[in-house]
Amino acid sequence: MPEQKLSNLSNLSLEEIEILLPASAKKSIEPGRSLKWLYQRRAVSFEEMTNLAKDFRMKLARLARIGLPEIEAVQTSGDTTKKILFRLEDGLFIESVLIPGKSHWTVCISTQAGCGMGCRFCLTGRDGLKRNLLPSEITGQITMLQQTLPEGPDIKNIVLMGMGEPLANYQNVLKAIEIMTSDYGLGFSNRKITLSTCGLAPMIRQLGDDICINLAVSLNALTMKKKRTDARQQKISSESLLAACRDYPMPGRRMLTFEYILMAGVNDSPADAEKVARLLKGIRCKLNLIAFNEYPVSSFKTPSPETIETFQQMLIRHHYTAMIRTSKGSDILAACGQLSGCKTATEGEITP
Ligand code: SF4
Repeated sequence: MPEQKLSNLSNLSLEEIEILLPASAKKSIEPGRSLKWLYQRRAVSFEEMTNLAKDFRMKLARLARIGLPEIEAVQTSGDTTKKILFRLEDGLFIESVLIPGKSHWTVCISTQAGCGMGCRFCLTGRDGLKRNLLPSEITGQITMLQQTLPEGPDIKNIVLMGMGEPLANYQNVLKAIEIMTSDYGLGFSNRKITLSTCGLAPMIRQLGDDICINLAVSLNALTMKKKRTDARQQKISSESLLAACRDYPMPGRRMLTFEYILMAGVNDSPADAEKVARLLKGIRCKLNLIAFNEYPVSSFKTPSPETIETFQQMLIRHHYTAMIRTSKGSDILAACGQLSGCKTATEGEITP
């Protein structure tokens, strides 16, 4: 059988592998063990899976292959953040970011090559969506980093905030999260996984029904639409997004996070802060205020520290938990909204 026809084992859940196998093999414990080899012992070939029956390994090798994204380049920022460029099997590139914490690392992974959401301030969305990533390409970013970089074993948090809108690639993202959190897979607690969305209300509801992970919602789509859409349409979509956020299940003391990227002269005024306070009234949440990270081809500007602080204080006065977050890795274009899947930013201008 030609290699390209074989299923990639890393795209399959345990149930799907059992369906793929002949009846005799699926009754054994070997399918689960093969996935543990893949995700926990990071095997790159079936020969390495030495505690599986040889007959089972041969059957599996006739039906499936192991394919992962390849690390093409690693750049390190002055603040030790690392940006990793991955080459996919079809030659497309995506990026992940390793962000340092006090005693651990957070990995920010991509869920699409490019992005079709068109947020005007974002470098990732500038060239549109190339394609959705497969589960193997989403989880593969984590397994390759765990396997290859010295920081790998200290990755404790996963954020789906890299290239792409995770909720626009829903089924593949859902399966990838299942692999990240399952016993046979990467074994992360769902408390350590955060999905960030630009605000696809129906899919937020679907996510809340299907799985329990942390949710971060960007408020920029709501606060930057004023030039484009008709006011009534905007009101309807604001209401549906905020209602979906209100209903999103956050057990225990967990809170929804709202992210707000502040751009000088665009959305950083006291009136904008009042608007945010009004919009979020009654939602148990915290706010992350992120100063826009300038990059060579963008005309948006970073607000002054004083403007950002005034914005924060106004929200605090309205009894919100509002924190100013400094994006790491901006000197290597690894900060929020700067990932492009290229080694350097290309030409063309993005204007407010
Ligand atoms: S901010 Fe997120 S959703 Fe918007 S274009 Fe960029 S990657 Fe896509």
